[in-house]
Amino acid sequence: MEQATLPELQYDYNALEPYYDAQTVEIHHTKHHAGYVKGFNNAQAKLKDARETNDYTLIKHYEHELAFHGAGHQLHTLFWENMRPGQDNNVPSDALQQRLASSFGSYDNFVAQFKKATASVEGSGWGVLAAHDDGTMHIFAVHNHQNAFVPGCKVLLVCDVWEHAYYLKYQNRRAEWIENFMNIINWDVVEQRL
Ligand code: MN
Repeated sequence: MEQATLPELQYDYNALEPYYDAQTVEIHHTKHHAGYVKGFNNAQAKLKDARETNDYTLIKHYEHELAFHGAGHQLHTLFWENMRPGQDNNVPSDALQQRLASSFGSYDNFVAQFKKATASVEGSGWGVLAAHDDGTMHIFAVHNHQNAFVPGCKVLLVCDVWEHAYYLKYQNRRAEWIENFMNIINWDVVEQRL
């Protein structure tokens, strides 16, 4: 990843209504996600300066910035892609339901664990479904953007539970946001990521 750029959304800001409101989606994309893009590029530039001047005084700070903003950018990109306008009975294909069942016991078990894990994130973070190389799937309650995740696992589905992701519409009702998020998951994209 050299220069990060803010990706265009593949739908209008109001396309995820009523589950995800247009105002939040627009601010989230144009302000918050854009901030991570800027922060990542800035960290890259500062680390280049450090190499060129052999001045590593602020190495700890900028390595943190690199991971925090880089992970923030990647997760938001995945987040926008793994949503679509709400559909009745928004469930994965039979094949994906079976894959989920083989890791979690049943599709319903996956849903229950994903919702609980995501709701349980302390402070700011993400609910993440990921697959290991051997095909086993895991759910992580990621802190910030970059903590409490196992490297090497491929990210399949992410739900943002930073307050900026839902507070305008849902205030402190994070569980209600997660419940509504389930209606706008783009399961086709999740399956393609496997
Ligand atoms: Mn966010």
